[in-house]
Amino acid sequence: MRNLLYPRNNKPPANLFLHLMLQDSFRHQGLRRQLVQQLRDKGIQNEAVLDAIGKIPRHFFMDNAFLEFAYQDKAFPISCGQTISQPYTVAYQSQLLDPRKGDKILEIGTGSGYQSAVLAETGAKVFSIERHKPLHENTRKLLDSLNYHSIKTFFGDGFKGLPAFAPFDKILVTCGATEIPLKLIDQLKVGGIMVIPIGPLSEQTMTTILKKPNGETEIIQLDKFRFVPMLGDKAR
Ligand code: SAH
Repeated sequence: MRNLLYPRNNKPPANLFLHLMLQDSFRHQGLRRQLVQQLRDKGIQNEAVLDAIGKIPRHFFMDNAFLEFAYQDKAFPISCGQTISQPYTVAYQSQLLDPRKGDKILEIGTGSGYQSAVLAETGAKVFSIERHKPLHENTRKLLDSLNYHSIKTFFGDGFKGLPAFAPFDKILVTCGATEIPLKLIDQLKVGGIMVIPIGPLSEQTMTTILKKPNGETEIIQLDKFRFVPMLGDKAR
């Protein structure tokens, strides 16, 4: 785990406000242990994912106004009308993705950066795209202040993916798509898996898509969730 008290060079950071926000108290750590237990009780078994959730101070990724709710298993608003996903949803998607050390993973929907941090803690190399510029910029600053420099973040349209960095071992979409984005399948390695919620605005079906050696895909539909929508090419 990184030195979160004085993230840079063991010296107090210049931005004292940010520094004071980034305190991880024993109380936070205790609440986090309870959250991990709740996720186990709800059926999450992937130890690397549970370890990451147990380590990462989720309250660092939330708006000041919601700090005290950070360890409830709920989604909360972040800026630009978006949400930080519910911990169970993060755990569920991460477990399906089964991130491993060295995996090259593309995430669509950086949002708060929390999901990216969970993947990075498992040793995966994370590339993440966000279409809201202010969110992209703020999250980049936060990830740097927490020493998550290895997470590469991009401002752009997730439907297009990142052809310059393809292929990816795994792709995770954290917003609800009405259909499978075919350009993302192109950017997936053979044998690779994509985890994506698919369906209308009201409800989406968590879907895994495996890319087979013959170029075909194997699609499995799982539980129902409700995500913010994956929006088209108006990156702003
Ligand atoms: N993974 C995030 C979840 C954020 S909610 C977290 O852990 O906090 C989903 C995010 O997807 C939102 O921030 C939204 O702005 C973003 N999004 C929606 N459509 C997108 C698109 N076409 N490309 C990239 N990001 C998109």
